[in-house]
Amino acid sequence: MAKTLFEKIIDKEIPATLVHEDEYCVAFRDINPGAPVHILLVPRKPIPRLCDAGADDQAVLGHLMLTASKIAAAEGHGEAYRLVVNNGAEAGQSVFHLHLHILAGRPLHWPPG
Ligand code: AMP
Repeated sequence: MAKTLFEKIIDKEIPATLVHEDEYCVAFRDINPGAPVHILLVPRKPIPRLCDAGADDQAVLGHLMLTASKIAAAEGHGEAYRLVVNNGAEAGQSVFHLHLHILAGRPLHWPPG
């Protein structure tokens, strides 16, 4: 299987502004930010979509949530941020490597578009 864009970023074959790295995940700034803080948090494991995750992925999914919270706090927005997962092309997913969007730094209205 060809590497996805995010696998290439994880493997440092494509440059990105990394804000966090650990054993299970990598976070970097979105190239086309939708908010003053817009970070993508991706598992090192190439799970294409959230709906492709299985029981074996439970620990890494929990780790992503906790890490997203820590990243938001480190960015100075620990009390007000939004996490978004687009699952599938019709839901807006364009890169088929599971990622959490971490958005903060402006009022975030509901419902999203
Ligand atoms: P999604 O549409 O949910 O799959 O999100 C993909 C995100 O990846 C979009 O917000 C893009 O702006 C972002 N993106 C695409 N290419 C890059 C890149 N080279 N570095 C950082 N973010 C990127």
